[in-house]
Amino acid sequence: LVRFTGVQKTYDGQQLVVRDLNLDIQRGEFLSLLGPSGSGKTTTLMMLAGFESPTAGDIFLDGRQITRTPPHKRNFGMVFQNYALFPHMTVAQNVAYPLTVRKVLAADRDTKVKRALEMVQMGGMGNRYPAQMSGGQQQRVALARALVFDPQLVLMDEPLGALDKQLREHMQIELKELHRQLGLTFVYVTHDQSEALTMSDRVAVFNDGAIQQIDVVTELYETPANRFVANFVGDNT
Ligand code: ATP
Repeated sequence: LVRFTGVQKTYDGQQLVVRDLNLDIQRGEFLSLLGPSGSGKTTTLMMLAGFESPTAGDIFLDGRQITRTPPHKRNFGMVFQNYALFPHMTVAQNVAYPLTVRKVLAADRDTKVKRALEMVQMGGMGNRYPAQMSGGQQQRVALARALVFDPQLVLMDEPLGALDKQLREHMQIELKELHRQLGLTFVYVTHDQSEALTMSDRVAVFNDGAIQQIDVVTELYETPANRFVANFVGDNT
């Protein structure tokens, strides 16, 4: 579905924060980008989203070059830890927002909003305001907003990072189930090994601006490509 070829990124013209990235994202997979802080995961996601441009290399979507296509022309859903809901809008208005921007007709909009809220088990909550909801419920609404326009790809950056451990584990199970039901492609950034390993089909392990290994979870455990992967994946504390 997506291909990165020879992608590099520098913010200051000197140090590469992403070095020679080659990556294929397969349609329908749940791919996690896992690695320590500063390893280049978020930068990679931002280039995929279109908020940052690569310094070198190209990105393709279905064989079409999108390296410098702006975010609103990519049709990707996004959920970030700090990608807050609009506080002055109700839940339903928040979820409808991407449809309003896309000029979807009101009648269609209502049906889609209702369906998206039901998907994340928030049906009946449409008239509430964000401040009246828990962190987990707000994150569900953010997810509904990312799914409502039938995106080609769903990008998430530490979406559960602000939640407490119990809720986070609960939401991990829900996200995985939602992925299974929808059959969409999910790209998920996290520094949490157990989170990546429980949810993903494949994991790309980042360190120092490069992918050390990209593989299914069992292979990462059984045949780690190097010492970094072995230590990082093995460290589940
Ligand atoms: P984290 O989980 O902490 O976000 P990460 O693996 O996602 O880490 P990035 O956020 O991609 O890593 O950051 C990689 C490097 O690029 C870091 O050294 C960071 O300081 C730097 N960096 C990120 N964004 C910018 C920016 N907008 N301007 C300058 N430097 C940046």
